[in-house]
Amino acid sequence: MFDVAVLGAGAAGMMCAAVAGQRGLRVALVDHAQRLAEKIRISGGGRCNFTNLGAGPANFLSENPNFCRSALAGYTPQDFLALLRRHRISWHEKHRGQLFCDDSSESIIEMLRAECDAGGVRWRMGCPVSEVARDGQGFELRTAQGVIRASRLVVATGGMAIPQLGATDFGLKIARQFGLKVVEPRPALVPLTFDPAQWQPLAALAGVALEVGLRTGQGKARGEFLEDLLFTHRGLSGPAILQISSYWKPGEPIVVDLAPGRDLAAELLALKSGNRQQLHTVLAGLWPRRLADAWLHLAERAGRPGLAALRMADAPDKTLRALAQDIHQWSLVPSGTAGYKKAEVMRGGVDTRGLDQKTMQAKALPGLYFVGEAVDVTGWLGGYNFQWAWASGVACGRAL
Ligand SMILES: Cc1cc2nc3c(=O)[nH]c(=O)nc-3n(C[C@H](O)[C@H](O)[C@H](O)COP(=O)(O)OP(=O)(O)OC[C@H]3O[C@@H](n4cnc5c(N)ncnc54)[C@H](O)[C@@H]3O)c2cc1C
Repeated sequence: MFDVAVLGAGAAGMMCAAVAGQRGLRVALVDHAQRLAEKIRISGGGRCNFTNLGAGPANFLSENPNFCRSALAGYTPQDFLALLRRHRISWHEKHRGQLFCDDSSESIIEMLRAECDAGGVRWRMGCPVSEVARDGQGFELRTAQGVIRASRLVVATGGMAIPQLGATDFGLKIARQFGLKVVEPRPALVPLTFDPAQWQPLAALAGVALEVGLRTGQGKARGEFLEDLLFTHRGLSGPAILQISSYWKPGEPIVVDLAPGRDLAAELLALKSGNRQQLHTVLAGLWPRRLADAWLHLAERAGRPGLAALRMADAPDKTLRALAQDIHQWSLVPSGTAGYKKAEVMRGGVDTRGLDQKTMQAKALPGLYFVGEAVDVTGWLGGYNFQWAWASGVACGRAL
């Protein structure tokens, strides 16, 4: 009999178990995986982008955007850095507030393992759970290692991204079993795919990388980023696409500004007077050459023959303005996403309107808690998802 059973020994589950254990509660930490926290291990290219200095509610998607405020305020990136200092783990900022371990993400796993041990947490690794049931005022977990009883249950089973690492929808099943609502889950921070035939003329751009502006959606569902984009043989990739994928809805266009922060029309018009150079030469001076080549080639195929060879002095203002507008507002409709196998996170999850924002407890069922990615709070790319895992785990661990 435990005070608390935490289901899922990942980022949020270990943090929650450590905090609760160090408060004197008897905690069991249960996971079907043999190895601890596989997602921490592989994150950030093996160096774990463990937080972001600027993490705040605006960096998260949720049907209930204010829900994450309290937990994020109660445990900040600075609090996590203080924990790293205590464990003598060194780190560095890569860019845009993204913090990574100097050595390996293993050091974060070892730190959390030590914090759990300091709280006397009982490990139940390699322990699949077949059923979760109410047991009087508490809960009963039927597992491969026998029945585990606990007064309170924390579900920290994460999202469905990377099923090959043991990700499941078990947390969502438990939520539904106990009558909680679930916001439809789907892959996020995921490459977007494009129709191969449609993409073929752009395949020659594979390898071109540049900073772009990107947007999709309307109103509250609008996402907008300034990030790096990479052209590949089959479509677009890079941080820009991962970011916008979390906001993208099937059938909707994404709009790419291929020359962000500039007024390309004004730049082209200013270069017109008495200029005998071809438009192709001028554009290649303002923009990546391969992109200029491919772009003008496509424009010619789309019904503007002779565009590339047009002398600047002879180019009608209207033509230059139209070209600049196309470059600033390139609208394209992805055919889909690369799915959970390639996604970094799941968006959607347990509907936060059924949870208490200070404790993560189910309003309708005292004693049942949900933390981490299983909850409908999804961070941007850049360390935000781990910050949510730490913050929601701590909020719950303190309240148990
Ligand atoms: C490739 C990749 C790279 C990433 N890089 C970053 C990054 O650098 N920065 C960042 O902020 N975020 C990153 N993320 C996202 C981040 O890993 C997650 O958001 C975070 O781990 C969520 O924490 P969690 O504790 O909710 O879930 P998890 O850490 O996924 O832990 C869930 C645990 O539950 C267990 N579990 C699942 N189902 C069951 C079940 N049925 N029975 C028992 N146990 C179960 C799993 O084995 C796992 O141990 C990355 C994700 C991926 C896939």
